[in-house]
Amino acid sequence: MLVRIERVVIAGGGLAGLRTVQELRARGYQGSVTMVGAEPRPPYDRPPLSKKLMMGALDDTSLDADAAALGLELRLGESAIGLAGLGGSAGLGGSAGLRETGRGGVLRTDQGEHRFDRLVVATGAAPVRMPGTGAQRVLRSLDDALELRSVLCPGLRLAIVGAGWIGAELATAAALKGCQVTVVEAGPTPVAGALGAEAGATTVPWYAEAGVDLRLCQAVESVEPGGLALSGGGWLAVDEVVTAVGVRPAVGWLDGSGVALENGVAVDDRLRASVPGVYAAGDCAAFWSLRYGRRLRVEHWDTALHAPEVAAANVLGGDEIYDPVPYFWSEQFGRMVQYVGHHTAADRLIWRGDPAGQRWAACWLAGPDTAADRLVAVLTVNQPRDLLQGRRAIGAGALVDPGRLADPGVPVRDAVAG
Ligand code: FAD
Repeated sequence: MLVRIERVVIAGGGLAGLRTVQELRARGYQGSVTMVGAEPRPPYDRPPLSKKLMMGALDDTSLDADAAALGLELRLGESAIGLAGLGGSAGLGGSAGLRETGRGGVLRTDQGEHRFDRLVVATGAAPVRMPGTGAQRVLRSLDDALELRSVLCPGLRLAIVGAGWIGAELATAAALKGCQVTVVEAGPTPVAGALGAEAGATTVPWYAEAGVDLRLCQAVESVEPGGLALSGGGWLAVDEVVTAVGVRPAVGWLDGSGVALENGVAVDDRLRASVPGVYAAGDCAAFWSLRYGRRLRVEHWDTALHAPEVAAANVLGGDEIYDPVPYFWSEQFGRMVQYVGHHTAADRLIWRGDPAGQRWAACWLAGPDTAADRLVAVLTVNQPRDLLQGRRAIGAGALVDPGRLADPGVPVRDAVAG
């Protein structure tokens, strides 16, 4: 039974939610669209929150979301709390033939119910907090950012828990504003989880140059009034604490709904959830990656921008595959850092240029086997050309000549073998 699609409901009012609406309309869909967003604000962009907005260069990051022009019923300050009346389970596979026969269902919210033929879950992710009774801030929403910005002042003793991307960007802004910044990181280097310790170590001197006190291999036990309780019995007295240790997918409201969850909404390579008629995109979606042969949940702006193209197409009966090469950027300590691809500790690292310099790149080749030198990931610092060419080569599954790749004078595209 194929269902006529007349009512699409979107849970989550961020970038992925808005992009889904835009893509549905761009594809000619004329039925109703309702978007339910927990925040009281219309959709806005998050990347500038830790960058230009934190520096005071802008105050508003609203996205172009004209609900009337989009024919969108935008329900702000309303939270999804569960699902009802679903059309049964379809099971989850990689690309295995799941047929869209769902009869839809009902999205339950804290303010009512919305019947749907198709539901797109785009509820994003929420920051993890530290234990303890002391006040701690996080940096996820526009309000978080505006409040935090208003307290950053010269001499403020600011502790940032976590030297990840957001911790580094916030440290950059706070140091420029004259705060005394201490970043406390449990790992051996910044961004060790994302890049590995060898590449992460290249960023250590950036903190010192900016006058930021970076404490590595130092776990925080809890946030207490007046400071941080450190593992090993230490104490760090500070005025403000920002916890930046990562996020978790905001999918708790789907517990018990029948929609399979695996560190996010488990969706296949077409962004379809285990229940027919339900899709997911953006930070909350753990999608099956054909390219990597595993489930990925990618917390990057680029994913929230593009995955909705596929979600919308498939909501409307299409059969498109979402198979991206993940991409993100970070602006920290006066540098543009970009990363494309996906690598593991088993992959081989090749430097292009001196990582102590201002412009360089690092490339990873697949696995320990040197017989096939396939490029799988590229990290660049102030080197966008390498990033662009690397992105194309990774997307094409290209083999490269490691010797030429290691020479920063040879364009990445000219290091592609054959
Ligand atoms: P979100 O933006 O999280 O939107 C989800 C929305 O759903 C939220 O408004 C949330 O309140 C709402 N919601 C949650 N639960 C419910 C519910 N039950 N009912 C209704 N609504 C709900 N990425 C990069 O690639 N580069 C960067 O430089 C970069 N910088 C960043 C800086 C900051 C400070 C932050 C926070 C993120 C940054 N990111 C960056 C990540 C990027 O912003 C995210 O990947 C992107 O916002 C994800 O969009 P989304 O729509 O999936 O989720």
